[in-house]
Amino acid sequence: MNDNAGHQVTGRFAPSPTGALHLGSLVAAVGSYLMAKRDGGRWLVRLDDLDVPRQLPGMADDILRTLETFGLQWDGDVARQSRNTGEYQRAFEVLRQQGLLYPCCCSRKDLAMASSAPAADDGSIPYVGSCRNGLPENFAVIRSWRLLVGEGEIRFDDLRSGVVCQRLDRLCGDFAVRRGTGEFTYQLAVVVDDYLAGVTQVVRGDDLLDSTPRQIYLQRLLGYPQPEYCHLPLVTGPTGAKLSKRDHLVSHSLGSCAGRERDLLIAVLRFLGLRPPVGLEECPCSDILQWGVTRFDPCMLPAQGGVCSATCVSTETAASQKEAR
Ligand code: GLU
Repeated sequence: MNDNAGHQVTGRFAPSPTGALHLGSLVAAVGSYLMAKRDGGRWLVRLDDLDVPRQLPGMADDILRTLETFGLQWDGDVARQSRNTGEYQRAFEVLRQQGLLYPCCCSRKDLAMASSAPAADDGSIPYVGSCRNGLPENFAVIRSWRLLVGEGEIRFDDLRSGVVCQRLDRLCGDFAVRRGTGEFTYQLAVVVDDYLAGVTQVVRGDDLLDSTPRQIYLQRLLGYPQPEYCHLPLVTGPTGAKLSKRDHLVSHSLGSCAGRERDLLIAVLRFLGLRPPVGLEECPCSDILQWGVTRFDPCMLPAQGGVCSATCVSTETAASQKEAR
């Protein structure tokens, strides 16, 4: 259940400026746009620019220009995580005053050695709580601040996946909300950002489904309302691998599709379970989106992800290109 009854419907798209938008990002952008607009709501754009070393110069502007080219016009000003540090600090203090935070000196190597549990899908290792009762006497450096998690189950209803239940102690253990170097982590930042912006619906890729219980846990501790969630199917390459900036997919950037935006939008609508009529691709992007706004229904989202076929985007990987040579 979401706690936002009576609040203006507000959706958002939150790209990180670490690489150009690809088809998977376009699915998240269009899905969140259609959902917010079909409910008569606002659609916000936020640049998740906390991870400074991984950002590419000029990428934030490139992302915004790409969204505009597809007719994805956001409401209000573009938000930037880098401007919200003071708010993250306040939330951090609220948690600290509740006695829920502690410093941890464990490196990734320490974590791997201490844990017998297998790594999660994203490669993360559940934290076994080595520093929960205090730092060892000879510790070298504080690497993170961790949030205590209990044994309770976090349960929420995802509009596509249905009821999701997770035990945080089993999946991730006490998780980091701040690095020893001072930066706040994605989990804390995203919760504070969404709250500050009055976000009532979070529509994003299925790869973030596993993070949602951590975010709901934080919302509860901080006294924030819980948005509704809808995790969209993931676009994959022909081999079934998720499209990702890190996979070094070549030609996946939407920038290489100039002039083919309408075909891409049609492909994305199909991917989201809609059946656009022949000829819609002749219409301006704004009309194509509007057609989607009046028909989008999360119940029609496919259960599985897959290839989103649009002829101008190659999903060949660098590896498969090399093989072909
Ligand atoms: N910034 C994240 C990303 O680009 C998405 C965050 C979110 O939607 O919660 O993957």
